[in-house]
Amino acid sequence: MLYIVMVTPSCNLSCSYCGGSLVGMPQEITYGVGKLAGIIEKDSESVVAFYGGEPLLRPDIVKNFLSVLPAKRFVLQTNGYFMRKLGDDVKKFDTVLLSIDGRKEVTDRYRAPGCYDKVMDALRFLKEKGYEGDVIARMAVSKYTDIYEDVTHLLQFFPHVHWQLDVVWSPLWELHEFEKWAESSYMPGIEKLVALWADEIKKGNVPGIVPFLGIMKRMIWGGKAGKGLPCGAGREAVAITTDGRVLACPIAGEFLWNELGNKIDVLQSFKKVEIGEPCASCDVYDICGGRCLFAYKERLWGDEGFRAVCRVTKHLIRQLEEVKDIVISHLAEIEDELKYPPFNNTTEIIP
Ligand code: SF4
Ligand code: SF4
Repeated sequence: MLYIVMVTPSCNLSCSYCGGSLVGMPQEITYGVGKLAGIIEKDSESVVAFYGGEPLLRPDIVKNFLSVLPAKRFVLQTNGYFMRKLGDDVKKFDTVLLSIDGRKEVTDRYRAPGCYDKVMDALRFLKEKGYEGDVIARMAVSKYTDIYEDVTHLLQFFPHVHWQLDVVWSPLWELHEFEKWAESSYMPGIEKLVALWADEIKKGNVPGIVPFLGIMKRMIWGGKAGKGLPCGAGREAVAITTDGRVLACPIAGEFLWNELGNKIDVLQSFKKVEIGEPCASCDVYDICGGRCLFAYKERLWGDEGFRAVCRVTKHLIRQLEEVKDIVISHLAEIEDELKYPPFNNTTEIIP
């Protein structure tokens, strides 16, 4: 099980697609970490991911939990500003996700002036410390993104790049602007990126483009058909608020459908989230799994908006289907790199 621990609701940034600090939970953790440790101890496949707000606003809590929680693996999602406060403890992480949206001008425009340089400094710090775990550039993709340019830029520095589309709850644009951008920029960019990916695979290299890896893994070795979302929200993944409520998805703490229970004891047994129609009978359900619980539940762009996002999801899946035979013909050389992610490291696979 993936346990997403929300260290603090506060964030030092207020990115244009997000809005900053969370509401609806206390600043301080009010549940007993010993109780959480006891639950995690019984789970041989436990992954603890530190999340916020910005978790490294409270390095004291992160360091304490790293030493007290008996998790098999640890993950950190951070904007990188306070990375150096971790010191040597950074080596305890299996995966670090750094929020960065692509080229400097794109990242700084969405996030904050100087943000790109802060993330690059965090990356330097990981190298200085001899950190050997996985590092993922975690992008939000919105109206100023050129998916081909921004992903290929980040691949120069990061072993893995993942992105999530800024859709449905976005304050930056509305449905029709998204549809125009998807048609004129995103989908052609995906086609170019898939072509590049396949060309590299022919040479025995596997660019670490996480959505491509995760989708191809499902195509070749089977998905979790009938088991729903790739992110695992409400089934194999839960989020724990500072006051110990257990959520299916970390981004929607205020929605009742998202709350699995109001005490961490519920982690021992809870009713798993199910995805129904239109996903259950969708022709790409085995791969897509319903994409995102929040978007499935809250149709903030209406059914028309839901279908518009499905259109880009299906386009991506079809592009990868077209290169599947190339991938299979090189499987012997690249199988290990292709079986990604090796565990639920909070990358949701379907952008
Ligand atoms: S493409 Fe759309 S309808 Fe199909 S499984 Fe994904 S989210 Fe559901
Ligand atoms: S994909 Fe959607 S449901 Fe899953 S963790 Fe992300 S926001 Fe939550």
